Amino acid sequence: TSFDDFALNRQLLNAIADAGYTTPTPIQQKTIPLILGNHDVLGIAQTGTGKTAAYVLPLLMKVKYAQGKNPRALILAPTRELVMQIDEAIAQLAKYTDLRHVALYGGLGPKTQIAALDAGIDIIVATPGRFMDLYLTESIVTKELKTMILDEADKMMDMGFMPQIRKILEVIPRKRQNLLFSATFPEKVERLSAEFLEAPVRVEV
Ligand code: AMP
Repeated sequence: TSFDDFALNRQLLNAIADAGYTTPTPIQQKTIPLILGNHDVLGIAQTGTGKTAAYVLPLLMKVKYAQGKNPRALILAPTRELVMQIDEAIAQLAKYTDLRHVALYGGLGPKTQIAALDAGIDIIVATPGRFMDLYLTESIVTKELKTMILDEADKMMDMGFMPQIRKILEVIPRKRQNLLFSATFPEKVERLSAEFLEAPVRVEV
């Protein structure tokens, strides 16, 4: 399999080549077609397997670039560091597009983050707490969200984010595509999957 076998556009294929990726990793081979095919996906994959690009690449095929003001996709991750890493991966793979993305996390004032949201945004990467804060102060409009991704779900459960994730699920559209990635699959992640995913395809590497 090569990246050319997926239905990715030229802008993405050029960014993939610049990143030095020649062959899709196993999680990418299995997951990219499923996400493009609109399935909910449960991905059991460790860091280092290429899991970020496995969902970012198909997401970049689905989300229209620079379209309107409100976000179409939301990626939640447990820590500021992971949110920043995911946002950097998006920046790298979306470099030839005019996609607008923002990383939302705590530990600093929200001014710059609010300015980015106000200017119009396509994809949000956020920690659950900062996302909810900015939603409650009406800096985020959720009605156009079509894809939601939970990354490092096991870590999110360990850090006690379940109540916040439940609240977020209450304020986003019901009809959407859901993706969940976790390094491990303990009972609490199984329960989260059952609440969050609809008829998921399970992928394990
Ligand atoms: P991740 O598992 O998402 O944390 O990715 C681990 C590392 O693998 C990152 O530095 C990526 O840039 C890199 N990577 C992702 N996909 C590929 C690929 N197909 N070929 C080579 N490196 C990759």
